[in-house]
Amino acid sequence: MNSRDMAIEQLIKISRFYGENPEYVLLGGGNTSWKDEQMMYVKASGYALGSIDRSGFASMSMEALNAVWDKEYSSDEEVREQQVLTDMMDARMPGETARPSVEALLHSFIPSSYVVHLHPALVNGLTCGKRGKAAAEEMFGDSMVWVPSVNPGYILAREARSHALNHQKKTGGFPELILLENHGVFIGADTPEGIKESYTQLMNALKQQAEREPDLSPLAIDSRRQQVLQQGIRRACSDSRRAVVGMMNHELERFLTDREACHPLSSAFTPDHLLYSGHTPLWVSADLFERDDPVSEIEQKVGEYEKREGVFPKSAAVQHTGIFGIGSNARQAESACLVFLDTLKTAVYSESFGGPSFMSQERIDFIRSWEVERYRAKVQENQ
Ligand SMILES: [Zn+2]
Repeated sequence: MNSRDMAIEQLIKISRFYGENPEYVLLGGGNTSWKDEQMMYVKASGYALGSIDRSGFASMSMEALNAVWDKEYSSDEEVREQQVLTDMMDARMPGETARPSVEALLHSFIPSSYVVHLHPALVNGLTCGKRGKAAAEEMFGDSMVWVPSVNPGYILAREARSHALNHQKKTGGFPELILLENHGVFIGADTPEGIKESYTQLMNALKQQAEREPDLSPLAIDSRRQQVLQQGIRRACSDSRRAVVGMMNHELERFLTDREACHPLSSAFTPDHLLYSGHTPLWVSADLFERDDPVSEIEQKVGEYEKREGVFPKSAAVQHTGIFGIGSNARQAESACLVFLDTLKTAVYSESFGGPSFMSQERIDFIRSWEVERYRAKVQENQ
């Protein structure tokens, strides 16, 4: 085995280490890379870290990736993202067929051999907290740089790079932590041990700051209501197999007392939350189940949601009852529910950092119309 092969073995190992731990990684979230001067191996789109092997990494030329920063792209968003996408595909090593993660550019400018990018709920309690930036400065000082929320893709990579380079100029060192507002964290190190050390430090510091942990002890779901909800949803989309997966716990009990209490769960904290459980859940009040024909009432509610939001709901928050993931199959509905649970955790952790702060409407609209995200959604459907 040559040293590059050995490094890739280590990359697979550390990717699985985090990918298998639900405290760090949900579903297909997060990505990792290893690089030397000539090339970078970065997680390809559509692979999950927990089960990744060598085929899940795309090999890219560092020279081609570095050249991206000197290019001028169109000021038109759609044209620009298409141009960058083409450059990313062209930056692959000869013969490479895997599609690099949209975040490959963010990996490429970090001057460390290994980079692990994750979106843990605990970290996002900070990055989605109203006081997140100030709290991060107090906690991590010069070892951290904070990147304000911007549109994902090329713009995010460019912003993150310029913040990191400015930080380096100012402090003399490249930041250990790159915290992305409403998104997650990038950590680089020259060894897998270095990565683990930084992540453990980050998580411990956040645990210490967290005023409370979400109380996820389960509660039973009212099965009659769940059935009514499912029937109404199925009727609304004329799909008798549309899946609905629900969850209830002590923490949710507090958030589901009324619409106002549910506000911290009412929008998307990060692009992944938006992608899996939708930009806003369908809200259903409990009194609806006591009416004469609750199934028709649900059907109507879903119809109104569709008209207002332009899409079918991917999740529902039902007063005093539970949260529900909705999907065209059981797996999709389970994913939507799981990610909705992550929204809950993020909301609770954010209380320790000034309270929840969602992505801006502009960002949400951008992502909803973004080709790359649509592609990812398709890949997930096909998995
Ligand atoms: Zn990310």
